[in-house]
Amino acid sequence: MGVLVCGGAGYIGSHFVKEILKRDEDVVIIDNLSTGHLESIPHQNPRVKFYEDDIRNPATLDEIFSANKIDTVIHFAADALVGESVENPLKYFDNNTGGMISLLESMRDSNVKQIIFSSTAATYGEPKSIPILETDPNEPTNPYGESKLMMEKIMKWVDQAYGIRFVSLRYFNAAGASEDSSIGEAHLCETHLIPLILRVPLGQSDHITVFGGDYDTPDGTCIRDYIHVTDLADAHLKAIDYLRAGKSSDIFNLGNGQGFSVKEMISAAEKVTGQKIKTVIGDRRPGDPARLVASSEKAKKILGWNPKFTSIEKIIETAWNWHVKNPKGYES
Ligand code: UDP
Repeated sequence: MGVLVCGGAGYIGSHFVKEILKRDEDVVIIDNLSTGHLESIPHQNPRVKFYEDDIRNPATLDEIFSANKIDTVIHFAADALVGESVENPLKYFDNNTGGMISLLESMRDSNVKQIIFSSTAATYGEPKSIPILETDPNEPTNPYGESKLMMEKIMKWVDQAYGIRFVSLRYFNAAGASEDSSIGEAHLCETHLIPLILRVPLGQSDHITVFGGDYDTPDGTCIRDYIHVTDLADAHLKAIDYLRAGKSSDIFNLGNGQGFSVKEMISAAEKVTGQKIKTVIGDRRPGDPARLVASSEKAKKILGWNPKFTSIEKIIETAWNWHVKNPKGYES
């Protein structure tokens, strides 16, 4: 059997491709390389086919579905920067929400009936209680979260109309890199905490700026739930099995269920790297909730998912190993 991976050259998509190739599956990747990296695609593997194009190009999707045996689409292809989405909301509703419409139209026309979707904790907005449950209210505080929530709603109605079943996976903070350091996190415009912290011991930055030291948390800095990218990839494999077993559409949180503050993350990075990391407390970043921690009990119970990277130091260590080996990301 085969899957289509939209956005398979991106951070999470490439880790998923690496994991699914351990199974006997054919993998077709479509990626417009707007943020993905050609170097992260395992071109040498004969079971991998790559199309460089945008999912909003129906001719390419139709060609992919007619030329390849695909039963499930794994959809990672989206813009994912909260700040950018506030500045340029139409980009997010066009690429993310519009991209989903194009993809589902082609799936309907080609009779492809299963999709697994990269959703986000940003659909919840400011949480009412911690840990966050899938049944909690969705009140996104930025266009990125809104665009992903719209995509979930579109899939719900499309399932009802055409029987295209979906699993939506709401990621908390994706982190780390593959254990063999062959692929990792490399964004042209880096906004994520762990790679930015690690730039200091790598000698690429003088200090890390903490966005806000006056939150209502024990040390005043924001708390997040960091989940290893290989554990995220594994949840997608379990979601494929779930849909192939004929189960109904559903939504699952993916996190470790444990929160770490920004200061705790910096201390953990100091332990991993063995270096002191200079820290400056700066202003709050607009739209950052104080705490985001997942309940992933539903994914554990229903999908049989069990994250293996439960130690924050181990998660940071995989990121550190990747950055030490690839200080310029895929450029090196
Ligand atoms: N953060 C920070 N300094 C940075 C980047 C991020 O203090 O240079 C904080 C950010 O405010 C948030 C946490 O680190 O509380 C995680 O941010 P990130 O952008 O990695 O992920 P997000 O939670 O926005 O998805």
